[in-house]
Amino acid sequence: MLKKFIPDQYVQSVYDIETEELRKRGVKGIITDLDNTLVEWDRKDATEKLLTWFERLREEGFEVVIVSNNNEKRVHTFASPHGLTFIHSAKKPFSKAFKAACRLMNLKHSEVVVLGDQLLTDILGGNRAGFQTILVVPVAETDGILTKFNRAIERRVFKAMKRKGLIEWERE
Ligand SMILES: [Mg+2]
Repeated sequence: MLKKFIPDQYVQSVYDIETEELRKRGVKGIITDLDNTLVEWDRKDATEKLLTWFERLREEGFEVVIVSNNNEKRVHTFASPHGLTFIHSAKKPFSKAFKAACRLMNLKHSEVVVLGDQLLTDILGGNRAGFQTILVVPVAETDGILTKFNRAIERRVFKAMKRKGLIEWERE
């Protein structure tokens, strides 16, 4: 059971992801979470740095879809001005939205990596749906109210994984 919570990779931020490494693993598409993965959960707009990152991914030939559990207003306001493809109200960890994103990119599950800052939604959902997964340290130390609840469970999962020697790192 715990294994489904273990990401294939763990990075400090999305900017630390080596696209060359992704390519070697056969990755052609990226499904990314929004809140606390790309920007702080309470930041309305994308940062310049993030837009540059998206542009680079596009130039390198990667497909990208934002898949967020947040509502249409939040995700639309963030993504639409920059022409970013998105699915809102995704109900992660359920796999429906992940699969829909995969179809939008016209890629196989094995060609897609899921990025996110939460074990209980992004990583569990991505693993269960058969994608590669990358866990990102949350951009902000604060969370929305629902996420706070998930974090409490997440801390217990991290501790259990560490105890079993499944991971070397631990999150506060
Ligand atoms: Mg998140």
